[in-house]
Amino acid sequence: MDKDKSKISILIVPHTQKVKRISIPNWFPKAALGILSVIIISLVLYIKISLNYQSNLIEEANQKIALISNLEEENRNKEQKLISLEAENRQLLKKTEEVEVKLNEIDKLQRRLEKLAGIDSPSRGGVIDRNIEMDVSTPSEEMSIVSEVLSDKKLELEIFIEDVEAQFEYLETVPDLIPTSGRITSKYGNRRDPFTRRIQFHQGIDIAGSSGTSINAAAKGTVIFAGRNGGYGRTVIIDHGNGYKTLYAHNREILVKKGDMVEKGQLIAKMGSSGRSTGVHLHFEIHKNNKTIDPLSLINN
Ligand SMILES: [Zn+2]
Repeated sequence: MDKDKSKISILIVPHTQKVKRISIPNWFPKAALGILSVIIISLVLYIKISLNYQSNLIEEANQKIALISNLEEENRNKEQKLISLEAENRQLLKKTEEVEVKLNEIDKLQRRLEKLAGIDSPSRGGVIDRNIEMDVSTPSEEMSIVSEVLSDKKLELEIFIEDVEAQFEYLETVPDLIPTSGRITSKYGNRRDPFTRRIQFHQGIDIAGSSGTSINAAAKGTVIFAGRNGGYGRTVIIDHGNGYKTLYAHNREILVKKGDMVEKGQLIAKMGSSGRSTGVHLHFEIHKNNKTIDPLSLINN
């Protein structure tokens, strides 16, 4: 060290030349050390920061990878859902088509029943024609069309059932049931009278059988006469409504009385030969609007 406290002298002693002396200020080593420390600290800080930054980047990347794999998982789930939805749609479509087939079957059946029951107002629709191209793209659209058709059909069937019931009600009052069993011995129309031998109009048909054979109402109705009636003997007359009346004559016994309601086929009398009769038989007349008609025109139907 030199005497001068503010300076440091460094002596360079080469082997061949004169000693050289370099003087540097006293603060220099401290300053150099300080600068070096600052540099080192900066470097360490820099490394730390950049390491931090890199680890952040890695973490971010990891998060992104996790997100992607989540998305992929979601996608797979969605695909699976789509597949099951498609399967459901196919099933729905199949069901819809089955319903359509059933509807068409019901419609055919209905038309046949209408013919059978003699209903004049045939069904107005409510059927899906597969030949008509339906402008639908999804099974649910088709399903909604089918359900609309179904509700139309339900309404139509309700009306149809009412029609059928009314028709049955009407048919119950049409005297088309043969009232007894036996042999038809005399038809409706001109014939030679068995007593006078003169040509006379026979107002009904004669059905011969054994005494006591059941006589049944030819249709539903109300008994308007039950008793003796001159040449007709023990007679029953039934009013069926709709202009129809029936008459049952020559009975041995009468089993109903005036005012009784009778069902079609109900037992009303026993066959006999009362009144002006040549033998045991039923004389049966049908009146339509107070004129006799040929009973066979209704019964043979
Ligand atoms: Zn007769």
